[in-house]
Amino acid sequence: MGVRSYEEYLFKRGKFPLNQRPCCRSYLKTDPINKWLNRYADKDKDIIVTGERREESPFRLLYTEEYQHSSGLLGIRPVLNWTTFQVIDRIIRAGLNMNPLYNCFSRVSCWCCPNKKKWEWYQLKIHFPELFKKVCQWEEELGHTIKYGHTLTDWLKDIA
Ligand code: SF4
Repeated sequence: MGVRSYEEYLFKRGKFPLNQRPCCRSYLKTDPINKWLNRYADKDKDIIVTGERREESPFRLLYTEEYQHSSGLLGIRPVLNWTTFQVIDRIIRAGLNMNPLYNCFSRVSCWCCPNKKKWEWYQLKIHFPELFKKVCQWEEELGHTIKYGHTLTDWLKDIA
């Protein structure tokens, strides 16, 4: 599709991505990463290190600590078996600050991710109202809602 932003992806597609395994993931994340790796990575020296954890989802339960990435590089997942507590504990012990976005959201991903939970959309509305308005505007312009069957504003009526 050749897009450079979520907004461009959305308007080329004409609707929001589905909640389950959204295809934006390949257009916006894995395809550009793979393209970059195929072009610049040195298969003899480079490895891929990522922070997925089994605790995060049933799908990630099946991940292995080492794998062969499609680019041919070795991939490793050093915190695969860590709990959330262990991650936070290590950050604090290292004297580092938590990403402040974790004060509002359960995960840090694209701000307009369709997988956001209801309370996270509410957090977006409260803490980042200009971004919340942008999604509402996209819903109007596309004639399609990010949560099927409701506009965001209607969906949040019972908590907002
Ligand atoms: S974080 Fe959400 S919106 Fe962003 S690419 Fe992944 S699934 Fe799509």
